[in-house]
Amino acid sequence: MALPLVMGDQNKKTNLQTENLLIIGSGPAGYTAAIYAARANLQPLLITGFEKGGIPGGQLMTTTFVENFPGFPDGVRGPDLMDLIKAQAVRWGTKLLEEDAEEITLNQRPFIVKTSTGTISTNSLIIATGASANRLGIQKESLFWGNGISACAICDGSTPQFRDEELAVVGGGDSACEEAVYLTKYGSHVHLLVRSKQLKATAAMADRVISNDQITVHFESVLVDIEGSDWLKAIRIKSKNTPEEKIINVKGLFYAIGHTPNTDLIKDQLKTDAKGYIFTNPGRPETSIEGVFAAGDVADSEWRQGVTAAGSGCKAALAAERWLSENNLSSPIKRQTTEPELSPKEKINENTNEETFNEDTIWQKGSYPLRKLYHESQKPLLVVYTSQNCGPCHVLKPQLKRVLSELEGKALGIEIDIEKDQEIALQAGIKGTPTIQLFKSKKLYKEWKGVKQRSLFKEAINNLIKSK
Ligand SMILES: Cc1cc2nc3c(=O)[nH]c(=O)nc-3n(C[C@H](O)[C@H](O)[C@H](O)COP(=O)(O)OP(=O)(O)OC[C@H]3O[C@@H](n4cnc5c(N)ncnc54)[C@H](O)[C@@H]3O)c2cc1C
Repeated sequence: MALPLVMGDQNKKTNLQTENLLIIGSGPAGYTAAIYAARANLQPLLITGFEKGGIPGGQLMTTTFVENFPGFPDGVRGPDLMDLIKAQAVRWGTKLLEEDAEEITLNQRPFIVKTSTGTISTNSLIIATGASANRLGIQKESLFWGNGISACAICDGSTPQFRDEELAVVGGGDSACEEAVYLTKYGSHVHLLVRSKQLKATAAMADRVISNDQITVHFESVLVDIEGSDWLKAIRIKSKNTPEEKIINVKGLFYAIGHTPNTDLIKDQLKTDAKGYIFTNPGRPETSIEGVFAAGDVADSEWRQGVTAAGSGCKAALAAERWLSENNLSSPIKRQTTEPELSPKEKINENTNEETFNEDTIWQKGSYPLRKLYHESQKPLLVVYTSQNCGPCHVLKPQLKRVLSELEGKALGIEIDIEKDQEIALQAGIKGTPTIQLFKSKKLYKEWKGVKQRSLFKEAINNLIKSK
C-alpha cells in the first residue's frame, strides 16, 4: 500500500526525533539488517525484545551447537553466535533498546512505534520478530510449567531433577529430534512422542534418533494427561490406533512442537499469508506497505534457518536504504573515523579460587566465592545459577553485572554453573536456568526465574541495602 510520503505533523506536536530506520527483533535477521544499515551510516535503532516473542537474541539463544552457519567449521554455540552478530551490529553504530515493541501505527508517516517506556517515530521499519514456541494447551500444562515441563531442553536439560531420570519430548521435527538426542546426555532414557507415522526431521537428524538406543520413539502417539504433585511424575499417552492409554514415568517433558510467527504487532495492518506469516513477494523483503520491510522467520514459513534469516535481514536493510534514499528520507551520519573501534572481547570467566578471590569484586564465579561471601559478607548477594548452553543466561548476565556496577559494589554477584557445581544446585533446589537468588546475612529474600527487567533486581537489592 502506498501511503502519501508527506510527513504528518505528529512529530512537530511531540518533538519526536524521527529515526531513519527502526528494526524490531534481535535474532539473526534483525542484527544482520542492523549491520548493513549501520555500515550504510543510517545509525539504525534496534528494539531487541524482552519477553514478548522470545528472548533477546532470538531462537538461536535456545540451542547448543549451530553446525550449519557458514564460517564456523567446528560449529558454534547458538548464544555465542548471537553475541558475535550483536557485537558486530553495535560496533558499526547500531543503537539498542532493550524492550518490547508494544504497538505500531502504520497508517501514518513517519511510522509510530510504542514501547513500554516511550514512543519512537521512524521513516522506515524492518519487522524481524521471528517466531515463538507453541504449547499444547492440555490440562495441567501451566501447573507443571517450570516444574517438569519446559519448552527448551537446551536451557533446562541439565537441571538436577532431570539427571538419570526418564524424560519425554513431544514433536517429530528437527527441534524435537535435536532435543531428544541432547537430553540423552542427562536423562537415563528419552521417549519421543510423535503424532504421525514418521519423523519430519531431516534424514541425518532422524537417523541419529532412530540409531540411539537411549531413545524410544512412540509413533502415532498423543499426550493425554500429566501426573504429579509438586513435580511432574508421569505422562499418560494414547496411541492413535488403540483406545488404551499408557503411563510413562518421566520427570521431564519437553515441548518441541513448532512455532507461530510473532505478528501481533502488525495484525490487520500488513498483509499476511494463509499461515499468518507476513506476506512478501518470494525472495523480497517489501511488505504490503511501502517503507515497511520484513525479514527472517516472521515472513518465512518454509526455510526458517539462521542463515536464511540473516540473508533476508541483509536484503531488508539494503531495500530500506534504497527506499529511504529514493524518497529523500535518509539522514546518514558522518563518521569521525572510517573504521570504528574494535569490539571488546569478553574475558572467559573461570571459577574463582582461593588465589583469585577478592571480597570486593562485583562478580565472581563458583562455589568458593559463594561459601566465603555467604558466610562472611554483610552485603546483599545475588546468586545466579546458569548453565553453559542457556541462552537466557547470556541475556541476563550482562544485565545483572550492569545493575551491580551501578550499585558500586554495595552488593555482589556470584555465578554458579549448575553443571560444574551440581551439589550446590541440588541443595539450592534449582529447577532450571537462569535462577537468581538474593541473600543477605544467610537469609534468602527473593528468588526469580528467567530473564526479568533490570529495574526489578535493582529495586529488590536497593531495598536490602537500605534495610538494617
Ligand atoms: C532449538 C532450535 C534450534 C535451531 N537450530 C538451528 C541451527 O542449528 N541452524 C540454523 O540455521 N537455524 C536453527 N534454528 C532456527 C533459527 O533459530 C531461526 O530460523 C532463526 O533464529 C530465525 O531468526 P529471526 O531473526 O527471524 O527470528 P528469531 O531468532 O526468532 O528472533 C526474533 C526476535 O524478535 C524479538 N521480538 C519478538 N517480538 C518482539 C516485540 N514485540 N518487540 C521487540 N522484539 C520482539 C525476539 O525477542 C527475538 O529477539 C533453530 C531453532 C530452534 C528453536
